[in-house]
Parts: sequence; structure tokens; C-alpha cells
Amino acid sequence: MTRAGVVYHAPLTGAADAATVSGRAAQLVEAVLGDLELPRDLPLAYHLQDHNRRRAEEQFLGWTVPVLDRLRERGHALTTLAPAASPSRDAVGVPLQDAAVPFASLARDAHAAPGLLIGLRLESHPRSGLAGAVRATALACASAEGKLALQSGVQPRIERSVCGGCGMCVTLCGNDGVRHNGHVAVIRPETCLACGDCLAECHTGALKFPEGGGDILQARLGAYAAAVVRGKPRRGVWLAFLLGEPQRRAVNLARAAALPDLGVLAAADPVALDLAAASLLEGALGRDWPAVCHPGLAAGADPLAAAREAARLGAGGPEAGGAAVPRLVTVG
Ligand code: SF4
Ligand code: SF4
Repeated sequence: MTRAGVVYHAPLTGAADAATVSGRAAQLVEAVLGDLELPRDLPLAYHLQDHNRRRAEEQFLGWTVPVLDRLRERGHALTTLAPAASPSRDAVGVPLQDAAVPFASLARDAHAAPGLLIGLRLESHPRSGLAGAVRATALACASAEGKLALQSGVQPRIERSVCGGCGMCVTLCGNDGVRHNGHVAVIRPETCLACGDCLAECHTGALKFPEGGGDILQARLGAYAAAVVRGKPRRGVWLAFLLGEPQRRAVNLARAAALPDLGVLAAADPVALDLAAASLLEGALGRDWPAVCHPGLAAGADPLAAAREAARLGAGGPEAGGAAVPRLVTVG
């Protein structure tokens, strides 16, 4: 039976070698799968996400690829979720009541998968809060049009008269979300993920999020994650690394607030995982952890807004009637 709200945690530091991290991660994944009592041959669709693609992909793959190997040995057939931008990724509309969006447009392969494995590196996002399992789930499982719907109207705008044309935002953006037209920068609505990274880099203040855009985006991400999770009685595994976030890009000073090394987490519930990560961060950094981790967050903004919205929509959270924070089970 699923132990809803239980999060397995292996305390480790970024100094641990890849074999140790991946071995412990595999242990956590097996603990979650054991709780779920999943058939040993249940197909799992996986997505491994590391925002630090340029600098840390090798490290992330060293942690995660051996976990995939262990799952294959266990008998699970693994398929990769197609990138959301893939034009062949058919969309399935999942109705949502009482949410920021009337329906979630999910990719057919993500919607149809009996179980999921979502692996990610937990990050502090300077503008929108904790970039955790709920966000990763929404972005991994949205269809191409769903991703556009998530971003629609909340992408940054560029004040042309203020833009100095330095191109720093173009250099920084890893998503081809902004280009230079020879004079000024121009946002590309079809590729900009509304992550807000470029805002931290613009020295003229030409880039601005629309008023309330962060809140709207968080609510949409929570709704999409809920649409994914509620459609999967068998759920799957969320595996998150809260380890050695290398400075994402050397030019981005806003990334100086790297999260502390607190270990690896795994759960059958992305909401519980994010809440558990927040509780570890609070334990390490104190009650002021949101300001420490998210220096650009608007005053009073909730770094866990997406997770709380997903919880409100029935995607998970701590055990019913239990404490506000999920139960952490330490492994190793
Ligand atoms: S908001 Fe993010 S994705 Fe969009 S242009 Fe800026 S850095 Fe790129
Ligand atoms: S960083 Fe700011 S000033 Fe430089 S090109 Fe981008 S929007 Fe313009």
C-alpha cells in the first residue's frame, strides 16, 4: 500500500562520489517502489531534468543513469518522455475544476504511461520560488501546446526604449527564449519558458515580468501537476537531488544563493517531496530560508505556491489528518 506523504531522504553532500550518490538514490527509489507494490514489470516513462545542463549534465547523468539500470534489472521497461517541443507529441485535454486553467493539455505519452519516474535537481529560483518536483512534473508532461498555455501572458516583456542591446539576456537564456534583432532584444513567445532568469541579468531594467505573472505561472504549474498525478493511481517515483548546485552560469550573480547540500529525496508524491525539501531547507537555513534561497522573490510571495496549489487540487501532500510536513524517513 502506498505510504502517502512519506518522503525517503538520504543525507549526503556534494563531496560524495557519483557511485555513492547513485547507489543511495537507487536505494530510495526501491523503497518507494516497494511501498507502491508496483508490479516488477510495470512500464515507467521517465524524464530526467537538470536545469544546469551546460555545467553539470555529466554529474547529473552520473547520479541518475545507474538508477535507470537498476530499474531495468528489476524488470521495468523504461521509455523516455518525448520533449514537450516535439511536434509529434499529441495533446490530451484533462479537465480541471476550480483551477487556474479549465483543462491541462498533457502529452499523450505522459498521460498514457502507467507510471512515471521524474528525476530532477532541486533549485532555488530567484524569482518564482522552489523549482521542485511539482514544476518538473508539469513541464515534463505538458504537451507542446500545453507548454505554450503555461507560459502564455506571463513571459517577461522588454521595454525597447530602455534596452541597451547588450545581449546578456540572449547569452544567458538556455531556451532560445530571447534573440537580438541587431538593435534590441526580443522575447520569443514560442520558446520562452517564463523562468525569469534573464531579469536578474539585465542591468538596464528593460526586462520585466507582467504584474502578478509569477503567481499565475505557479498556479498553472500546480494545476498541470495535479492533472498528471490524479490520472495515475499507481503514480511512480519522484527523485530529487538537493546537492551541490553549481553556479548555474558564471555571469548570473543571482545564482550565488546556491542551495545547501542536503542529500537525495524520493517519494511517490511530488507535493510531499517539495514540502519535505522546504522543511530540510528551513532546518538548515532557518525560518528565513525563502529570502535566502530566492533573493528576487516578491515580498510575501510563497516559494511553494505551485506545490500548495497542486495539493489543493488533490495531487498529494502530507498524510491526511497528519502533520503539515510530510514524514521524512532517513535512509543510510
Ligand atoms: S524568461 Fe527564461 S526562457 Fe524566457 S527569455 Fe528569459 S531566460 Fe529565456
Ligand atoms: S540584458 Fe537587458 S539591456 Fe541587455 S539586451 Fe537584454 S534586455 Fe536589452
